[in-house]
Amino acid sequence: MKSSVNDIEIILSRLRNKLPHKRFATNLSFIKPDKEYSLVKFILGEGNQHKALISAGIHGDEPGGVETICAFLENNRFESFSEEWELTFLPCINPYGYEYGLRENQDGMDLNRLFKHKNPPKEVAFAQSVFEKPYELTIELHEDFMSSGYYLYQQGTHPEDDQLGPLILQRVKNIMPINLNDEIDERSAQEGIMVQEDFSTMDWWPMALYSLSKGTKRCLTLETATKFSMDKRVEAHLTAIDTALNYFSEGT
Ligand SMILES: [Zn+2]
Repeated sequence: MKSSVNDIEIILSRLRNKLPHKRFATNLSFIKPDKEYSLVKFILGEGNQHKALISAGIHGDEPGGVETICAFLENNRFESFSEEWELTFLPCINPYGYEYGLRENQDGMDLNRLFKHKNPPKEVAFAQSVFEKPYELTIELHEDFMSSGYYLYQQGTHPEDDQLGPLILQRVKNIMPINLNDEIDERSAQEGIMVQEDFSTMDWWPMALYSLSKGTKRCLTLETATKFSMDKRVEAHLTAIDTALNYFSEGT
């Protein structure tokens, strides 16, 4: 049997310590193969005017996003947004993959390919369940082992918000270089921003396209570069989150 590389319980207790009621809003469990895993979400600033979803850990071998959500709470980063923003968090969508350092879940499935699936795995159904209400912004935190620097995907209903991507990279580049290659992960990119393909014909969807289909105004998929230290990866993501939240609370 594979040995675990991370402990999801440590993450959950770090988060729980910082939550107002020391508990998660929802907590579904599944047992695989000899342990009970929880799928959790929590909400800060419930009822506030602006609404965003921040998620991480859909790829279990990308711990940078999970650490970013812990750091967001532990460094009290919500303080400057607590008047305006309702933030829903999915801190680790793939807890089994996180524990074992695997991209896929316990059944070998890449969860970020299954958002158009009629009968998706539990983790995907759980992530889909938080889309009952429309979000202005959804942010998915990833990391890339092959990348020389930070880059991102963005899509949305308002083309004028395309300016957000470059704005984020402008800020992040003070922390980590931007990947300026014309091709990243075998797809076209420009100045650190992935060129989006037409998704209407795609037979599979990542979470971002599901989010768009639910009316989200702007979807961001953020890729920090694994070659840098965890502190830098987290700081880059935190800076991107701050920039995106400020953009919508100040700009519109
Ligand atoms: Zn990923």
